[in-house]
Amino acid sequence: MTFDTSDLPAIDLRSDTVTLPTEAMYECMRSAPLGDDALDGDPTARELEGRTAELLGKEAGLFLPSCTMANLVATLVHAGRAEQVIVQADSHLYNAERGAAVLTGAFFLPIGGPGGTMEMEALHEALDARGSRLRTAMLALETSHNSAGGAVPPLAHMAEVHALAAERGAALHIDGARLFNAATFLEVEADRIAEHGDSVAICLSKGLSAPLGAVLAGSISFIEQARAVRRMLGGQQRQVGLVAAAGLVALDGRGRLIEDHVRTARLADLLHAVEPSLVPRFPETNILLVDVAASGHSAAEWCEILATCGVLVRPWGRYTLRCVLHRHIDDGATERAGHAFEIAAAQLFRARAVRDRP
Ligand SMILES: *Cc1c(COP(=O)(O)O)cnc(C)c1O
Repeated sequence: MTFDTSDLPAIDLRSDTVTLPTEAMYECMRSAPLGDDALDGDPTARELEGRTAELLGKEAGLFLPSCTMANLVATLVHAGRAEQVIVQADSHLYNAERGAAVLTGAFFLPIGGPGGTMEMEALHEALDARGSRLRTAMLALETSHNSAGGAVPPLAHMAEVHALAAERGAALHIDGARLFNAATFLEVEADRIAEHGDSVAICLSKGLSAPLGAVLAGSISFIEQARAVRRMLGGQQRQVGLVAAAGLVALDGRGRLIEDHVRTARLADLLHAVEPSLVPRFPETNILLVDVAASGHSAAEWCEILATCGVLVRPWGRYTLRCVLHRHIDDGATERAGHAFEIAAAQLFRARAVRDRP
């Protein structure tokens, strides 16, 4: 079977961060009123902060260069040195950002659970543990959950964790880098998710397609402190409205995320038809984790073969691939991606069958 990809652009499923700004974003950037955000405020950044806070049902917002910095700022505000931060064990905060401990001096304690949740029994135990004598100052949940394949923790779970945190005098931070994907899946307004957090971070440069940026939201006093911490970290910028303008268009475009979810479900169907063990039957949002263990070949080998078919994906563990759908993946690209998997599977599953022969 041949697959000529020479005249087609690569189908880039490595991340939704590869999305480029839209024409509407460039238009808005050209005409956005600008000011010195460190001096007397950039009007477009203020507008983005206010609009995001409103969408999330919070009093105030703060524009940040990245969601990583938003999570760091939230941790620095909520937790002091030698205090404990309880994070979901598979979360981005723990797996990709725990180096922040060199700055926060706070200890991360991971609590696992299926689909991006925390085992409540383990959480109770962690909060009751007296051995370490560390006060738990913050808990963090992630929604949608990246490493849980875009799964959306149930609102009832978030409410339960939030209530327990409040009871123990700890803040709950929501890493909502893809919170609008979660809201789309749950068919609720974003504030119905955000109400379960004392602070919430959203990322503008994932499926929302802005070139960069994140917004942290919370109470007025939380954001006042966050603004001071942002300055300490060098995250305060000048005519930041230039990118905040793209962020405003990104927020307005959140309604299109459903298209990514529909195509992710379609890709899951295609892969399921190739080999049922590859994928979960019903992905919830725009991320699909592909389990290639049954082929006996590593994720890296799969990535290599898929790349020769014009499809870029990332290893997400030794035998797991991650595919992320986004604005640049249309129906045609989704079908072509499915076809590329068919070709890769024909090679890699057959190689196993030959090798396993007695
Ligand atoms: C991407 C991501 C981040 C970091 O966002 P950046 O803007 O790239 O720094 C944080 N949390 C989650 C869940 C993410 O997926």
